[in-house]
Amino acid sequence: MQDELLFNRPLVEKYDRPGPRYTSYPTAPQFHAAFAEDDYRSAAERSNRAAEPKPLSVYVHIPFCKSLCYYCACNKIITHNTERAAEYLQWLKQEIFVQGALFDTTRRMTQLHLGGGTPTYLSNAQLSELMAALDEAFHFAAPEEREFSLEVDPRTVTPDQVHELYALGFNRLSFGVQDFDHDVQQAVNRVQSEEQVVSLVKAARETGFDSVSVDLIYGLPLQTVASFDTTLTKIIDLQPDRIAAYSYAHLPELFKAQRLIRPEDMPPPERKLELLELTINRLTAAGYVYIGMDHFALPNDELSLARENGTLQRNFQGYSTHADCDMIGLGITSIGKVGDTYSQNVKETAQYQHRLDEGRLPVFRGYRLSDDDRLRRDVINTLMCHGRLAFAAIEARHNINFHSYFASALASLEEMAEDGLIALRDHEIEVLPSGRLMIRNLAMAFDAYLKPTENRYSRTV
Ligand code: SF4
Repeated sequence: MQDELLFNRPLVEKYDRPGPRYTSYPTAPQFHAAFAEDDYRSAAERSNRAAEPKPLSVYVHIPFCKSLCYYCACNKIITHNTERAAEYLQWLKQEIFVQGALFDTTRRMTQLHLGGGTPTYLSNAQLSELMAALDEAFHFAAPEEREFSLEVDPRTVTPDQVHELYALGFNRLSFGVQDFDHDVQQAVNRVQSEEQVVSLVKAARETGFDSVSVDLIYGLPLQTVASFDTTLTKIIDLQPDRIAAYSYAHLPELFKAQRLIRPEDMPPPERKLELLELTINRLTAAGYVYIGMDHFALPNDELSLARENGTLQRNFQGYSTHADCDMIGLGITSIGKVGDTYSQNVKETAQYQHRLDEGRLPVFRGYRLSDDDRLRRDVINTLMCHGRLAFAAIEARHNINFHSYFASALASLEEMAEDGLIALRDHEIEVLPSGRLMIRNLAMAFDAYLKPTENRYSRTV
């Protein structure tokens, strides 16, 4: 696999267009309401009967936040009424027990991720209640096999609480920093001091967390190359194991919160590319490995090692080191992947409670993959995780002739090959250093559902 990453400005500009992030294939717009609760129950049953049932990975969505970040595109509920979270937790526990009963207790739960919203909106006592319910309903893997992670809003926890999170069984933390610059923080209504973040990262290290990640966003209002350079210097000094640097997608027509950002504060498009170039240069010069799609990790981090030895995976949270798991989504909006199906929970708390109250699972839509979907998912995942696709391996796994099956996709890739982004050989596709940033464009060639005019997605670079 190519380790080198080249930022070629004219090509980045040429290929920067809307496209899915492929945390699933088919992507969520293909999910439909004809796939409902019974289909999900059957999928769980089939997954238990597999010759080798997969381990389980659980995602829990905590939708609450105390204040609104203006760049936010997440499904969240802004409230200071902590009663709402207490009530939600009770329904969540109900779902945990219904879901837990669907899966054989011999199946180990190796992965847990709490996302939001703000998972640390819940007090440590509430998180403890949540963990106890999960432990009762599922079979936790041994501590050394677990990857239990939590997204932390630095404004909501203290260093002491970080110690308590470790005691609850979490071994990975991800801190939402976005940018240390005060003007930028004010422009997006998310003010947090550098000291807060530094003290929390220090507490996580002292406590023994296996991995600390930091999330950054480039392309925010008032960001300049100089100001973001300062943020990057401070982050590099902190040496988190992983850094995710996301591109801010400003879509105020789709996301109401973003209308609160003053249009005149938005950086021009060329600044965004300068910020991306700066981020790549600074992080790679500091020794971080580019994993793919916004993610960087220290060379000895499991993600870098997995990339090197070809075991990298992709799931709803991005890149992962864990072997293919069946994924269970809990809480509103969460998405699951069990066997060859995807399923999604309802998006409103009232509907969520109503369904659970009736003894039903809150699944409202989903998708069962066809043979063609499975084949294309394999192609897209292989390209995104390994940067190289050997046609013979796909032919053996899916019983097709690659060249005839994908004749039109291969023809559409010739331009990327001519531009030096990929090597298109008789027996394989290889992603070249200049093409690593355009991996979504490559995946899009194999997407049977994508319409050329779709612009519901963020831009690919
Ligand atoms: S960015 Fe995160 S913390 Fe801010 S409003 Fe959105 S979900 Fe809440």
